Amino acid sequence: MTTRLRHRPLTLGAVFLGTAGLLAGCAGTETAVVEPVTTTTTAVPTTTVVLTTTVGVSDAIAADLIFLREEERLAGDVYEAMYDMYGLKTFSNIAESEDRHTESVLGLLDSYGIDDPAIGLAAGEYSDPVLQNLYDELMALGSQSLADALTVGATIEDLDIVDLRERVSGIDEIDTVLANLEKGSMNHLAAFVGQLERRGETYTAQYLTQAEVDAIVAA
Ligand code: ZN
Ligand code: ZN
Repeated sequence: MTTRLRHRPLTLGAVFLGTAGLLAGCAGTETAVVEPVTTTTTAVPTTTVVLTTTVGVSDAIAADLIFLREEERLAGDVYEAMYDMYGLKTFSNIAESEDRHTESVLGLLDSYGIDDPAIGLAAGEYSDPVLQNLYDELMALGSQSLADALTVGATIEDLDIVDLRERVSGIDEIDTVLANLEKGSMNHLAAFVGQLERRGETYTAQYLTQAEVDAIVAA
């Protein structure tokens, strides 16, 4: 996949108010050395040092988060549309869950100072052309029948789990969110496959292995 991430300078979240701040360091390993203010008069105001822990993430991680923000949005948009078509509550319940997922990725984008790719876009519109194609294809397939729509749901979750696992970052704050999304995706996958099986249909794994899908559904 190509990423179109513009170069984004790392932001050091350091604000020094006062006379005695010295920030020495480079991306990723910044160290802040703050000399205490020693005053011989009462004329020097209190020195305020605000050091946030947020340091910009690499362009690769930023691109991953941007992708996941849109991929979670896509899931919610598709399920909302499928609910409108078929009225099956499973779709609206899982769509709500996807809204929380995409919001939690947005929280990460915000905390790293990364622009939200969803700004100005309506449901069904994505800035990533790969996701736009995926949405268009899945909507066409899901519009054919309820069984196709449930297969689309299982397919999205199958893909999401693989995409989330591929984007583990090594940064706890991010990976905790990703793990939560993965857990949600596993529940969603099991729900869609369960709905298919209730209708005498089966789901064939497309991204995970069949053994992985079977284990998730059986859990
Ligand atoms: Zn999700
Ligand atoms: Zn999901």
